[in-house]
Amino acid sequence: MASLTVENYLKAALQIAMRDEVEWISTGQLATALQVSPGTVTSMLKTLADSGLAEYRPYEGARLTREGQSLALRMLRRHRLLELFLVKTLDLSWDQVHEEAENMEHAVSDMLIDRIDEFLGHPAADPHGDPIPAADGEMRTDGSECVPLSSVEPGAEICVARVTNQDPEFLRFLADSGLTIGATGQVAQNSAEAGIVSTEFAGRTIALGHPAARQVLVRVGGLGLP
Ligand SMILES: [Zn+2]
Repeated sequence: MASLTVENYLKAALQIAMRDEVEWISTGQLATALQVSPGTVTSMLKTLADSGLAEYRPYEGARLTREGQSLALRMLRRHRLLELFLVKTLDLSWDQVHEEAENMEHAVSDMLIDRIDEFLGHPAADPHGDPIPAADGEMRTDGSECVPLSSVEPGAEICVARVTNQDPEFLRFLADSGLTIGATGQVAQNSAEAGIVSTEFAGRTIALGHPAARQVLVRVGGLGLP
């Protein structure tokens, strides 16, 4: 049974690798994600390497082994199913569930998680649009491609698919602005020079700076949006 710290390292490592589409991730990236010092990360990576969960190379960083990856996927599955469960059954909002799931994910059994999965009808995504791994570690996706809102051309019709920043204030801002998962709107302007993208959702104009807009993933399309 892996410790809470090990589980958090593996999960963070997998999320960085998936986000950046890389195998090797740096010590610095992990330190930032986990808000600990690079020295702490280095010693933990050595521990993970000793347990066969990651490969570690000084100055290069780490790569999860198959075993490390499957444990990390299990943690993501727990986290995301718990988030959705809390939203669906207890009516918590999408800005309230991340912290709760962070704590609960280490305590629940796989049996309970499988039951929650069944209860929710084997959902493909959590309240933030993050894909939920099936019990075998396979990601459930519908195959449609998401792009950052910051990269969308003016005039395009968009549907909010995923938000990668779990900060409660950011999520509340988005919800107040009508940018919830599944909401459809349009890109009015997108200026690389000003670093601002302005959108229209339900008749309201919402402007986001590019750093924020990079954390909102959308599906682009005209007809055929849900
Ligand atoms: Zn989530």
